[in-house]
Amino acid sequence: MEGTLRTILSKLWDYQAAILEIARLNKALKTYPESIRTLETEIKTIEKKLTKTKTELDENKDTQKKREEYLEMCKTNLEKYESDLMEVTNQKDYSAVLNEIDYAKKEIHNTEEELIKLFEEIEKNEKLIDEFTQVLSTKKEELDKALEDFKATNQEQIKRRDELLEVKKKLESEIPLKYLKVFYNIAKKRNGIGVATIENETCSACHMKIRPQKINEIKKHPDSLYYCENCQRILVLIPEDDNSE
Ligand SMILES: [Zn+2]
Repeated sequence: MEGTLRTILSKLWDYQAAILEIARLNKALKTYPESIRTLETEIKTIEKKLTKTKTELDENKDTQKKREEYLEMCKTNLEKYESDLMEVTNQKDYSAVLNEIDYAKKEIHNTEEELIKLFEEIEKNEKLIDEFTQVLSTKKEELDKALEDFKATNQEQIKRRDELLEVKKKLESEIPLKYLKVFYNIAKKRNGIGVATIENETCSACHMKIRPQKINEIKKHPDSLYYCENCQRILVLIPEDDNSE
């Protein structure tokens, strides 16, 4: 059978192409697009800010509650002292109660001021929470869309890879084990490339010139294995232009 080895080598060439493309697709499938990573980082940052603001809001509301209780207490005290004032009989008690009244009024004033500031802080917190929540929801929608696109692209790539895995399996059953072993021995040492073609009289893998006598020899003896003298890879003559010669 003329050209048997040549057919095997041609299949080995297709086999190598399938392996390389499968590896490329597997790598692409594992590589997360930059845009998705950026979105994920942005979302994390906003989530952190949102959590921080929510904690601040809780603390402010807690303080507000305590200050309101204190204000109520001061007001009750003030009422009590004011009614006490009616009942004191001596100057000493009178000025003592007056002092208490002064103090209560000052505390009421200060606490009211404090409550106004707290109220403003709370409003600010709530506004920020609204803003962050809105941005977060927009960013999450963007991320969902990006992930969907990524999945769609992945699905195409997975389909292509699975087809190639079938091609690889079929070729493995067609190429004699002996040649597969030779191929893998070379490929292992040479970046996964065990076979090279001859293009413009050069080796397609290492780009070194191949002697014309050697090319003639390869053409004359299609049933012998030939190796590139420079990179030691198996040389394949792809019989694409057989008729035009
Ligand atoms: Zn070479």
